[in-house]
Amino acid sequence: MVDSKESRTDTERPVLRADRPAFRETLHVGRPNIGDMERLLARVEDALERRWLTNRGPYVQELEQRICEYVGVKHCIAVCNATIGLELAIRAAGLGGEVIVPSFTFVATAHALQWQGITPVFCDVDPATHNIDPAKIERLITPRTTGIIGVHVWGRACNIKALSDISDRHGLPLLFDAAHAFGCSYRRKMIGGFGDAEVFSFHATKFFNTFEGGAVVTNDDELAETVSLMSNFGFAGLDNVIYIGTNGKMCEVSAAMGLTSLESLDEFISVNRRNHQAYQRHLDGIAGVTMVTFDEGERNNYQYIVLEIDESACGVSRDALVEILHAQNVRARRYFYPGCHRMEPYRSYYPNAGLLLPETECLSERVLCLPTGTAVSEDDVALICAIIGTAIEHPGAASAACGISEDSAT
Ligand SMILES: *Cc1c(COP(=O)(O)O)cnc(C)c1O
Repeated sequence: MVDSKESRTDTERPVLRADRPAFRETLHVGRPNIGDMERLLARVEDALERRWLTNRGPYVQELEQRICEYVGVKHCIAVCNATIGLELAIRAAGLGGEVIVPSFTFVATAHALQWQGITPVFCDVDPATHNIDPAKIERLITPRTTGIIGVHVWGRACNIKALSDISDRHGLPLLFDAAHAFGCSYRRKMIGGFGDAEVFSFHATKFFNTFEGGAVVTNDDELAETVSLMSNFGFAGLDNVIYIGTNGKMCEVSAAMGLTSLESLDEFISVNRRNHQAYQRHLDGIAGVTMVTFDEGERNNYQYIVLEIDESACGVSRDALVEILHAQNVRARRYFYPGCHRMEPYRSYYPNAGLLLPETECLSERVLCLPTGTAVSEDDVALICAIIGTAIEHPGAASAACGISEDSAT
């Protein structure tokens, strides 16, 4: 957000200067969407007056019910974050040994397995969808394989039909990391009801947030019961522990935030959609830049503005573009660079994993995410795109103006 009108008037092709960034205030990817603050504070006051702050209080119960209705799923267990939610779902589904996951995901997907001594076996992605490639899964199945976790990257559903077929054929449980996909659909059914269970993230940077939080959703009664027990130390009643468990509970303040955000969900989506369309309009025709699009026949949250930068076509590398944007106070991000398999401990355990992941490696060198959400205006979008246009059409000038030597920019 810029407070000076002067700096956003000429968005055609701005002259970029290192000493005077196009944006005075830094724009971030994943700046939180916040609903009606007064309603939130009223709910927090209620919770304080009740002195019921956590342990499945009335707000958590209400949020779980609302999510069940919204998603069209039988059970929702609200949790303190999606990483714990994934750990719970993985454990409750009885996974062990090896589990097949994409490497092109946030590292929590792999960590949730490794944390409990389960080996993540990384599968390559389909470059057209950025999601796990069903055609490459079966060759990774071994006698130790116990399950598959798909990730709905950017909120675009995995090929759920193909994954379900593989899961049925081999008798392998199928879970989904739906951290990006709250409010999105697959074949016109809301994401959340597929596979054995799905896990949403309600982290502050996600489309819908509860400060920190998440939910495990499932239509499986037994799995829901197990996740619920495990998320509360295995307590089945006062003083009666019947299971090994952990503390995965969501607290009332988070649920109050969730209930309040739910009331603004349509507004969040329409702002994101407006920004997405503005980005498409302004980036159209810039050679070497393609934008991830969403199927308008499905429900989408449009939370991620994702570009693929083809250096050979535009003459500027993704990394140089990121540097230029950062110099102009646009904190573009390289999600999911460099891929889980290049992060510890996986990098040391499987130093050659990349040989089986050519598309993941290629994608993680090309992808760039840009700011959107309710903190980003259409004018901001126009200016961000103008910076990208200048950087690509005049790479030397743009780099010099950002205090970057030409060598590192091209
Ligand atoms: C954010 C994210 C997570 C982790 O969610 P938290 O709620 O922060 O624990 C897991 N997987 C993916 C794909 C994510 O983007």
